[in-house]
Amino acid sequence: TLQERLSGVLDKLRGRGSLSEADVSEAMREVRRALLEADVALDVVRDFIARVSEQAVGATVVKSVTPGQMVVKIVHDELVNTLGADNQPVSLAAAAPVPILMVGLQGSGKTTTTAKLAKRLQDREKKKVLMASLDTRRPAAMEQLAVLGTQVGVQTLPIVTGQSAVQIAQRALQAAKLGGYDVVMLDTAGRTTVDDELMAEAVEVKKVSNPHEVLLVADALTGQDAVTTARAFDKALGITGLALTRVDGDGRGGAALSMRAVTGKPIKLIGVGEKMDALEDFDPQRIAGRILGMGDIVALVERAREQIDQEQAARAAERMRKGQFDLNDLKSQLQQMQKMGGMAGVMGLLPGMGQIKKQLDAANIDEKVLKRQAAIIDSMTKAERKNPDVLKASRKKRVAAGSGTRVEDVNRLLKMHRQMADMMKMMGKGGRGGLAGLAGK
Ligand code: GDP
Ligand code: MG
Repeated sequence: TLQERLSGVLDKLRGRGSLSEADVSEAMREVRRALLEADVALDVVRDFIARVSEQAVGATVVKSVTPGQMVVKIVHDELVNTLGADNQPVSLAAAAPVPILMVGLQGSGKTTTTAKLAKRLQDREKKKVLMASLDTRRPAAMEQLAVLGTQVGVQTLPIVTGQSAVQIAQRALQAAKLGGYDVVMLDTAGRTTVDDELMAEAVEVKKVSNPHEVLLVADALTGQDAVTTARAFDKALGITGLALTRVDGDGRGGAALSMRAVTGKPIKLIGVGEKMDALEDFDPQRIAGRILGMGDIVALVERAREQIDQEQAARAAERMRKGQFDLNDLKSQLQQMQKMGGMAGVMGLLPGMGQIKKQLDAANIDEKVLKRQAAIIDSMTKAERKNPDVLKASRKKRVAAGSGTRVEDVNRLLKMHRQMADMMKMMGKGGRGGLAGLAGK
């Protein structure tokens, strides 16, 4: 496994403080090989390795884990990050009937997934769903959807022969509106490979139906081709998410990583069998584990994470006492808070902080704010994090743009950091600080 290979390369380093560029590049050869074996597309592998290397070089190896485990953890976390840390469900946040367009190559599982998703929306979310097949090319295709509809108890649009895909789409929307449906699912025709005619038809259908979701249904077993497919569909249609099928037969998980990386669109659903209830939410942790090729990766990573967190917290506390609290420290504090469900949890760990816990509980800092703040710090350069004073107007603008926030948000974060740093200094001298400004809203 990758774990063993990385241990072989790195664990002779035990005792050294941090990972050098040479150590890391040797380790990255193993990571590269593992990703290619998992069928991840070449250019995706290249970008991934670059990102992981950057994090691994200079990373401090904590006492209680080996350098190999440390790098596995970095790789795992970056995999999860790339795959999309949050599960993003199919959105129905639009005026009813909400149109959902299913696109993809022939045989990818569009019709099956359409019926599975319709069933799920109906059973779990109590939505009234209408399905329509726009596949005018294969005579049996419309029948297939009708049969599945009967099987799962979801209505399908009555079949009228001789209509074009666009006409059927219009009829479906009309019927959904008149019939008081919440959702209308449009199952399109596919080709065996990406071609112009297929795309042109899908684009037309998209134009007339104005779908709230455009889900690309893709076969997890297609490996390297997945990238070409995903890129082409996204370029022509602007997909909103992916449904990955045949994950039950895929032990490697590479297609998920490739498709997510090239489109930047979330994987919203995975198909794990032919049965109508074989549809699951996407779980990045599990796919990351598959790619790394080890069953116990999650436990291992958790153990490493705990150790690293503890040592980081101790280090941060030490730096705080000395009044050296920079934005890197703030970032690791924010991450801790996110993990531990709020600032109060972390502060409880730090010496002398128990007393302010109550104020923080009251401030009720939510996860979104924490994430936004972490994103702002991520958009800064190393130098800016060490010394926030260099952040003048133009740099702030850049950081705001990079993190998808506004300059006010950057200012607020900097102010919060200043207040925290001042407070730390005071506490270090034995004084007491007020935390009123810490809410960071
Ligand atoms: P379409 O041409 O894109 O509409 O593909 P279909 O929905 O007709 O699916 C083609 C075949 O793939 C069918 O035999 C499905 O049962 C099968 N299939 C679809 N999704 C899955 C899945 O998640 N796992 C497995 N094992 N088979 C699937
Ligand atoms: Mg079909």
